[in-house]
Amino acid sequence: MSGAPARGVQVIGPGGSFATPRDEHGFLRPRRKAREVRVGNLVLGGAHPVRVQTMTKGDTGDVETTFDEVVGLEAAGCELVRASVPTMREAKALGELKRRIKIPLVADIHFSAPLALEAIAQGVDKVRINPGNIGTREEVERVVRAARDRGVAMRIGVNSGSIRERKALEVKAQDEDMVELCVREALRHVEIFESLKFHDFLISIKAHTVPLTVAANRRLAAACDYPLHLGVTHAGSAEPSLIKSSAAFGILLAEGIGDTIRVSITGDNRQEVRVGHVLLQALGLRAPTFDVYACPSCGRAEIDLIGLTKKVEEATKGLTYPCRVAVMGCIVNGPGEAAEADVSVSAGKGAGFIYRGVKMIKKVREEDIVRELRAEIDAWIAEKQAAEGAAAQG
Ligand code: SF4
Repeated sequence: MSGAPARGVQVIGPGGSFATPRDEHGFLRPRRKAREVRVGNLVLGGAHPVRVQTMTKGDTGDVETTFDEVVGLEAAGCELVRASVPTMREAKALGELKRRIKIPLVADIHFSAPLALEAIAQGVDKVRINPGNIGTREEVERVVRAARDRGVAMRIGVNSGSIRERKALEVKAQDEDMVELCVREALRHVEIFESLKFHDFLISIKAHTVPLTVAANRRLAAACDYPLHLGVTHAGSAEPSLIKSSAAFGILLAEGIGDTIRVSITGDNRQEVRVGHVLLQALGLRAPTFDVYACPSCGRAEIDLIGLTKKVEEATKGLTYPCRVAVMGCIVNGPGEAAEADVSVSAGKGAGFIYRGVKMIKKVREEDIVRELRAEIDAWIAEKQAAEGAAAQG
């Protein structure tokens, strides 16, 4: 993994450690007991962490450029990466790409069993097929046998759009019908995979609406024990995508459903990865890291809060130790609202009041806020680390 960890993101390398997540208020339902599936150097399902993945956006056949893209995604915290394979040219490039990257490589296949077979021959870690368009049962069986014999995992990736398109002439599918159709399509392929004694696969049912995504995944979770990949497809640009993904994943993950996630954004895929981690942290499924938050500001603010927050973020760049830092616009409400922060500053007239929890530490001049806040953060982290070191020694 190269580069600095992304802001507010706990980067977990494939072979690295995973700090215990926190369910502070007991709101998470017990995790669904999914079968464990190995994908390259990761194990998915079971009690293993929910993993964050994304797709590359460039030309998979251009290995040099795609490698650079994956390095950037790894630095952002990507834990599995999927690449599209539209033709045999891209399929034949997968082997070299696989040899150069550190995280598991997933080939995304539509419309062509021969492409899936070539991806498997190239040594990818997982092949995602779309049952809606991959071909006949015989073709699916050839792919499954090849994956089984090479120890390659698969994903049955059902997409409500493909099903709607195929079924358009047969039924006037409403969302209720679509839940049934999507789940039936996934289970039809489960039956094919199992008939060949192949069990190393995940399933996903993606739709572009939250209700369909949630309903279909709930039903699928109850119908089988394979690990599930969550996604809201065609979710749009950052704002609508984050809202839809947070709503759907929040419901499902809080119910213990979901083993990998992808936040699909029409935009930067490193952002997909970063927000995926933040979402997991927000739910208590990932250990917290260094985090700066700020009040929204209002007529009571005694300072340019947006400017101050940016300066604090800049001054603390690179810190990863779990520490909650709050930047508050006024001394009237700031200290109370920031009581759960480890270190905070609340602005007064031409001054800043620096707190640890609810205890005021010092009053500083406005122009010294950023420097003094950083010094207090450093002192807080040093004390915590010293205490941890002493505890570890017995
Ligand atoms: S902390 Fe003060 S400035 Fe910030 S939103 Fe609350 S009242 Fe407004």
